[in-house]
Amino acid sequence: MKRIILHWTGGKYTPSSTDFEHYHFLVDKCGDILKGKYTPEDNLNCNDGKYAAHCGGFNTGSIGLSICAMWGYQSPKHIGDYPFVRVQGEAAWSYCATLLKKYNLKPSKDTVMTHYEVGKMLPKSTSAGKIDITYIPYEPTISADEAGDYIRNKVRWYYER
Ligand SMILES: [Zn+2]
Repeated sequence: MKRIILHWTGGKYTPSSTDFEHYHFLVDKCGDILKGKYTPEDNLNCNDGKYAAHCGGFNTGSIGLSICAMWGYQSPKHIGDYPFVRVQGEAAWSYCATLLKKYNLKPSKDTVMTHYEVGKMLPKSTSAGKIDITYIPYEPTISADEAGDYIRNKVRWYYER
């Protein structure tokens, strides 16, 4: 595996049935990690159609870890009724560090990315324009372009612990 892509589902606090098909791991409101239908290894070869499609243009070698939340989110001023909570965020950053260790990866901008960052890197892919993760509901002063670095700092802290 090459990297971990962090998402939010855009749904409510528990995963939908399609969420299980699109992500390898899901974080529910309690911070529990739920496994999706496909394993990370299923994304080593995406030509057979049996893989978690979570990151258009960048699925091969990419693990999809998604926070169950953000239904109704439009902008920092209209965040909807399902903002992800700190327990979920910390569980996601911590599990991301666990996955890095499992797959012998070091935390960096190449190994830990948000879906939003992938979209900026691949503007012609279906990941372009994705807004997960551009907003940390419990740290609202962090801007969209700072969110990835905030998350990597958190992941690094768990990784080094
Ligand atoms: Zn996403």
